[in-house]
Amino acid sequence: MSQPITVKPGHKIRLADFDASFKNGVDSREAAEAETEASVSAMTDLAYRLYAENRRALLIVLQGMDTAGKDGTIRHVMRGVSPQSCQVKPFKQPSAEELDHDFLWRIHKAVPAKGNIGIFNRSHYEDVLVVRVHNLVPQDVWEKRYDTINGFERFLVDGGTTIIKIFLHISKDEQKERLEERLHDAKKRWKLSPADVAERKLWDDYQRAYEDALTHCNTDYAPWHIVPANRKWYRNFVISKLLREALEKMDPKFPPPASDLDKLVIE
Ligand code: AMP
Ligand code: MG
Repeated sequence: MSQPITVKPGHKIRLADFDASFKNGVDSREAAEAETEASVSAMTDLAYRLYAENRRALLIVLQGMDTAGKDGTIRHVMRGVSPQSCQVKPFKQPSAEELDHDFLWRIHKAVPAKGNIGIFNRSHYEDVLVVRVHNLVPQDVWEKRYDTINGFERFLVDGGTTIIKIFLHISKDEQKERLEERLHDAKKRWKLSPADVAERKLWDDYQRAYEDALTHCNTDYAPWHIVPANRKWYRNFVISKLLREALEKMDPKFPPPASDLDKLVIE
């Protein structure tokens, strides 16, 4: 059985159709981890070229339920890229100042500059997810945001930014295990808040909000990738391959020297 990671734009996405434990016939964890290593190290060179070229950018949007593995993905998959050319931007509850602006104000300020890779740990999608589930703005306001987001992403793509949107798909049972681990593991406790347990009660509402966001904002220029994330090693394998291939497709080139360096004499 196979399970796609992307869906053709215009098709309704139903998360129940996607198995969060899917591993596409990859039976050897060791082999997958070796390939992840190879992708991570290929990204070191590709990101260096992107930085040297200084003409285009890569934006990675990470979304997923609490415990889906957003932080872990960044830690494992991005470790080969120089911090000089890579910025992580976590989006938390908006500040008072941010709330006094349109919802894309804080997002646009954080998009990667030319030559850089930007990682959004949560994103503008929260404004059609948590905002919808908790009725933070009326429906006629959040409903219009799908089109606004598509227009914004089109604008970024036209300006030379490649956008990779990743939904980390975990099951409800897997989230239970991960929350329990956070409760009992001293090194993970800091991550757990009673709010996470309250949010879990809204699981179905979130899944519905995600399905709509993934469906309405799945475009040919900025498609969603639905990554089975119950197994961390498989998640890392898929995402590292995805990012490596995106960078290979961009094929960044070292720029030509600023002047005729052949005539330069260093004394
Ligand atoms: P964490 O990612 O665990 O650090 O949590 C960040 C929290 O900020 C999550 O509960 C998000 O849902 C919340 N958050 C992020 N963006 C927004 C937003 N635009 N409006 C309301 N809450 C948000
Ligand atoms: Mg959290």
